[in-house]
Amino acid sequence: MPVLTVDRVAKRYGARDALAEVSLTVGRGEIVALLGPNGAGKTTLFRIIEGLVPADGGRVMAAGHDVSRAPAAALASLGIVFQEATLDLDLTVAENLAYYAALRGVPRRERAGAVETSLERLGLADRAASRARELSGGLRRRAELARALIGGPSLLLLDEPTDALDPASRRSLRAEVDRLRRLTGCGVLWATHLVDEVATADRVVILDRGAIVAEGIPAAIIAAHGGNSLTDAFLALTGAAAS
Ligand code: ATP
Repeated sequence: MPVLTVDRVAKRYGARDALAEVSLTVGRGEIVALLGPNGAGKTTLFRIIEGLVPADGGRVMAAGHDVSRAPAAALASLGIVFQEATLDLDLTVAENLAYYAALRGVPRRERAGAVETSLERLGLADRAASRARELSGGLRRRAELARALIGGPSLLLLDEPTDALDPASRRSLRAEVDRLRRLTGCGVLWATHLVDEVATADRVVILDRGAIVAEGIPAAIIAAHGGNSLTDAFLALTGAAAS
């Protein structure tokens, strides 16, 4: 059973289709890249999966739970890194994670252990007592990833997690997510507008103006849509080359 099933999800804002019958799945331990230019609908889809915005049609199942009928159970299966940074900069790294663990319902006596394990997994144990404000952008993102892992999610939702990171931090975050999905078996949905970021994904779903215009392994998308690279295929498919 997939850890995420998005089935013909639709969302309208006024006269505009933000999402038009979008369907995709993420399997256990699989990294699926949701690649789309600005305004394609990536964040809207994430908000629907997270239960923050209701869909106008279709269904989302997270770890077997219908997001609109059993939102608490569905949400409990998700680990989320939002597009905007959401650490409390005045708290320490460990305090940020402990607060989240409490919100997630991790029993009080297990919280310190859960925080420690998660920080160790991300190589942040030595920064536990640092205020989030003192961390570099790359380490803050890493701390958000450590936070998202608390509670053992079946699915990680990463909304443009490398935005504003330098190339080395980008690469390191990608490698980290790849390692974590192998370690924990969680599925990953990774939204991005950066083509070079998805070349190592198991599957790529290309979203443009609310609709899926291609899906598959990168090599198959390149073969089907011409050009020498995923960038060529992406530009051709999304019409970005013309703009
Ligand atoms: P970006 O990479 O810029 O974050 P995105 O792929 O995440 O883009 P969305 O933020 O999901 O795209 O936006 C999809 C479309 O829906 C855009 O045209 C956007 O203007 C519109 N939209 C999103 N939220 C709202 C809203 N609350 N009200 C009206 N229109 C909205």
